Amino acid sequence: MNFHEYQAKQLFADYGIAVPAGRVARSPEEAVDAAKAIPGDLWVVKAQIHAGGRGKAGGVKLAKTLDEVREYAKAMLGTKMETYQSAGVALPIDSVLISEGTDIDKELYLSVLVDRGTQSITFIASSEGGVDIEQVAAETPEKIQTLNVNYVQGLQPYQTREMGFALGLDAKQTGQLGKIMLGLFKLFNEKDLALVELNPLAVLTNGNLAVLDGKVNSDDNASFRHADLVAMRDIRQEDETEVAASQHDLNYVTMDGNIGCMVNGAGLAMATMDVIKLNGGEPANFLDVGGGATKERVTEAFKLILSSDKVKAIFVNIFGGIVRNDVIAEGIIAAVKDVGVKVPVIVRLEGTKVEEGKKLLKESGLAIIAADDINDGARKAVEAVKQAA
Ligand code: ADP
Ligand code: MG
Repeated sequence: MNFHEYQAKQLFADYGIAVPAGRVARSPEEAVDAAKAIPGDLWVVKAQIHAGGRGKAGGVKLAKTLDEVREYAKAMLGTKMETYQSAGVALPIDSVLISEGTDIDKELYLSVLVDRGTQSITFIASSEGGVDIEQVAAETPEKIQTLNVNYVQGLQPYQTREMGFALGLDAKQTGQLGKIMLGLFKLFNEKDLALVELNPLAVLTNGNLAVLDGKVNSDDNASFRHADLVAMRDIRQEDETEVAASQHDLNYVTMDGNIGCMVNGAGLAMATMDVIKLNGGEPANFLDVGGGATKERVTEAFKLILSSDKVKAIFVNIFGGIVRNDVIAEGIIAAVKDVGVKVPVIVRLEGTKVEEGKKLLKESGLAIIAADDINDGARKAVEAVKQAA
């Protein structure tokens, strides 16, 4: 689950990390009221969307007067914003964060994530943060510092000092960094997060560090024990199809391609996408209907795939271990009857009740292309897309 910047900063503050004064606003008037409550005469108006890259897209504006605050908030609220990080989607700006404007001397980068390679929670930092961090990572990787935290020992204060010195900070700033890193480490563990990113973590002209941007992503598998995080969910920022899928307990991820995939089991679903790509095609989605798929879930899954007009063919790849092929077949038939299908459907069934499943499909009168195995199915799906084009 992703969070807005204002929510991330609230979480940081809860863990003793200092954040600039700020308030969220949902109308231009609220924005002005928020600015009035923040000391100083420089504010920043920030579009709250689930994507970075807002600065470059016009979603971060410095305002010198209350009129400018109103103007910028008015221009952003109610519109949609696409950034280089929003995966081609324009996200609705329903709120803006009004924050204290600061004088920046230098922008650093600091993130925490789970590094699978070293099986550890890892801090990544750079003295060259800011809006071009991707370029720094690609062109000057030596400017990126990595710290793998030992799970048993946890983050040690001396490690935060080493990081401070590696980033070229002075003693006072290194102390501030230590507080931030220890707070983030605690937050990361206690809330089961998957990623925290501060970019920029700024060095201000007054010499202090300031958390100017915050991105947080949590582990969905742990949501059941974090009602407070779930309450912060903003489904308007999420992919509509993925939201619908989660309501039916389906693991669905929208992809860029045009071959819809309905598969049981995450491993087989990954393999199916790989084999489609090997055959020169592009999957339109990842979908795992799960081991205990019922007719209703299969029907919902099929409808989800069909809800996208990008989909030019559907590849159903089922290995029935626990799931029964006749149940899958019933679901496909019900879904197609319900919503209609105008694209070729390639079906590979194997395993429990496979003959019954095939028979049901055959007798349904639906135009289904049968496949012998995963390779044959992927090939036929790619072929079907080519013919349709
Ligand atoms: P994004 O990462 O989505 O582009 P940021 O919050 O990082 O959004 O803002 C982009 C840039 O705007 C920052 O790198 C920083 O230079 C500037 N900025 C952000 N917040 C402030 C602030 N409170 N005061 C002054 N400048 C800011
Ligand atoms: Mg940023």
